[in-house]
Order: sequence, then structure tokens, then C-alpha cells
Amino acid sequence: MNPNPTTHDYDAYISQLLAPEDDVLQATREEMQRAGLPQINVSASQGQTLHLLTRLIGAKRVLEIGTLGGYSAIWMARALPADGHLLSLEVDAHHASVARRNIENAGLNHQVEVRLGAASDTLRRLHDANEAPFDLIFIDADKDAYPQYLELGLPLLRDGGLLLADNTLSPEVLEGRASPGILRYNALAASHPLLVSTLIPVLRGRGVGGVMISIKQSPQPDAANTILPAT
Ligand code: SAH
Ligand code: MG
Repeated sequence: MNPNPTTHDYDAYISQLLAPEDDVLQATREEMQRAGLPQINVSASQGQTLHLLTRLIGAKRVLEIGTLGGYSAIWMARALPADGHLLSLEVDAHHASVARRNIENAGLNHQVEVRLGAASDTLRRLHDANEAPFDLIFIDADKDAYPQYLELGLPLLRDGGLLLADNTLSPEVLEGRASPGILRYNALAASHPLLVSTLIPVLRGRGVGGVMISIKQSPQPDAANTILPAT
């Protein structure tokens, strides 16, 4: 018996038991490596968590911010019903083309669209287009822009929808040395009147990461401003 299991050991148990990768997911990671993409995709166990959350709320329309090679998109898209759709935003043309290949190889072409461009621009355009509301938004792109993605994403999310943000827990977060965008995002998720949030720790090879999970609630009457009926 291993007297001092590491976070890696715990994660290996969970992923082997609950999130074994099939050929498609393995090929996706291999293709990303061949194409020289950074290995900053979610882990398999995290992919399974995203998959479960997507199913849990019966999501039909999912928006991802930060595609990379399509790994997390495939985990989530596999949780969609036949008429479900996932839109993933990516600024890097090379990443987008690797992702499109992987998504095609996964047989998910008809359900997943990778849209090229700076996410903040695309998000602004989504406001005008007829593509919202979404049931779930997963933020996993440039950390400095997280607060902006919250601001632009929230109006695109239906009431009761889920807002998820990766990389919101780390040793750097504890020490206040994380990207200011991440620290600000966490503060916003904690205090925003439209959000109820919790931070789920995620086991990593190196240690602990985390995903902020927020549900969008309909506006609550502000107690201080509520006019009580005359009695
Ligand atoms: N969700 C992916 C990992 C995303 S990594 C997975 O788990 O499989 C972050 C991605 O965000 C990178 O591909 C990077 O190119 C992209 N990105 C960075 N800045 C961006 C921006 N301003 N708009 C859109 N995508 C951006
Ligand atoms: Mg991430």
C-alpha cells in the first residue's frame, strides 16, 4: 500500500474508473501533440465532470471560450442530445484547424462549430445574432479577460444556466499571485447578484486546480429597495 498517495494517484484512480479515454480522445491528444499545441487541455477526469454537468442540466446549447485542440469540446459535445449544439471560440488559427480535424474525427462535425476570432469580439456579436441563450458557458481562455468574459457571457446565459471557469484555483490563487483576471473573476463569481457559485477543486498531476461553478439566478428583489405592501 502507498502510505502517501499524491494528487496524481487520486486522479489516476478516478480517471481509470470513471473517465477512461476511448480511441477518439486518445487520438485527439496525440494529434494535439503532433501539431505542437501546448498540453493545457482539461484532464480526463475534468472532461468527465464537464460531461456530467452538461447532462445534469440537460444542456442543448453550449458555449466554450478557448478551444485549443477540441479536447474539452468533445467531452461536452458527447453529453448533448441529438439536436444539441456546441459553439467554441478560438483566436489561434492553428489551434482552430487542429480542433476541427479532431472534432471531425470524433464524428461531431454536425454538432460542434469552432469559430475563429478574439472571444470578446465574437461574444459581442453573439449578443446581436440569434444564437443566444446558452444553457452552459465554459470559460477556459486568456486569464486576464475572465472578468470581461463573465460580463459579456452572462447576458447570453439563460436563467438557471451554468457558468464554468477553469483554472480558478491554484497555489498562485491562494497566494494572491495568480493573474489579476482570475482573482477578479473569483471575487465577481462570489459576489455577483445574479450568480450562486462554488469552487470545485480538481486534482492535477502537479497538485490542485479548480473550476468555478456558478448558476445564474433570476434577479432577486433587493431587500433594501423592496417596497413592502402596506399592512
Ligand atoms: N478548453 C481547452 C483548452 C483551452 S486552452 C481544453 O481543455 O481542451 C486556451 C485556449 O484559449 C488556447 O487555444 C488559446 O489560443 C485560446 N485563447 C487565448 N486567448 C483567446 C482569445 N482572446 N479569444 C479566444 N481564444 C483565446
Ligand atoms: Mg484550463
